[in-house]
Amino acid sequence: MSASKDTPPPLPEPLRVAVADSHTHLDMQAGTVEEGLAKAASVGVATVVQVGCDVKGSRWAAETAAAYDNVHAAVALHPNEAPRIVLGDPDGWSRQGARPGGGQAALDDALAEIDALAALDHVKAVGETGLDHFRTGPEGMAAQELSFRAHIEIAKRRGKALVIHDRDAHADVLRILREEGAPERTVFHCYSGDADMARECAAAGYYMSFAGTVTFKNAQPLRDALAAAPAELVLVETDAPYLTPAPYRGRPNAPYLIPLTVRAMAAVRGIDEDAMATAIAANTARAFAY
Ligand SMILES: [Zn+2]
Ligand SMILES: [Zn+2]
Repeated sequence: MSASKDTPPPLPEPLRVAVADSHTHLDMQAGTVEEGLAKAASVGVATVVQVGCDVKGSRWAAETAAAYDNVHAAVALHPNEAPRIVLGDPDGWSRQGARPGGGQAALDDALAEIDALAALDHVKAVGETGLDHFRTGPEGMAAQELSFRAHIEIAKRRGKALVIHDRDAHADVLRILREEGAPERTVFHCYSGDADMARECAAAGYYMSFAGTVTFKNAQPLRDALAAAPAELVLVETDAPYLTPAPYRGRPNAPYLIPLTVRAMAAVRGIDEDAMATAIAANTARAFAY
């Protein structure tokens, strides 16, 4: 990567109405948690939901949320993590590197840890869970689906929000939510469906969280979905360090870049930035019950 690709984008103009980044991974970003939170707060991103993707990351999320009033935690085994636990997958998704598969018993152990973390006060959500047909091949599907169903059960039993990761799996995610019965509060993180799916999510009362992808040039179907979503179900997120909004695509993302996405969202919906931020702030607090 060139130096400019690694250079953090500049601070955007602050929001006048503070919002929350509904989905971030501070543990994968450069700098300390204090620095990241201070930078975000300086531009009106007052709150973040820190999302764990495996047992270790979920423990870290819970500890970080306990340490900072403006951090809330979500805990889960990522949809690409569950098959790795069962099968092992040296070429697959994980920041922890290769390890041998541990079978069903290892998945049960990991789910028991997630369940225990989900009981904690500072943990407001179970996720990110769901289906990823992009990264997980046919051999991992059964473990991924079993893990998704188990996370839905945990969220309902613990009375927490459910955070969905849905990559190239819209119909199957919606079907499994119907089959299991979705928790009272369900959030599609990095919403990637079209306007028809947005109407389906709206009818079910699912929140839709929009990431920097909504600013991408080729993302008109996503903007159409945002325009179709009811104002009371719309959230914003970074999914940082990924999905940096335009015009900084490809450079490191962090919660302080949320204002760029909020402005793009306001433009799509034809409302002013303060009204967009006011709705997002209320929706996020309601979705995660903080
Ligand atoms: Zn995700
Ligand atoms: Zn994520």
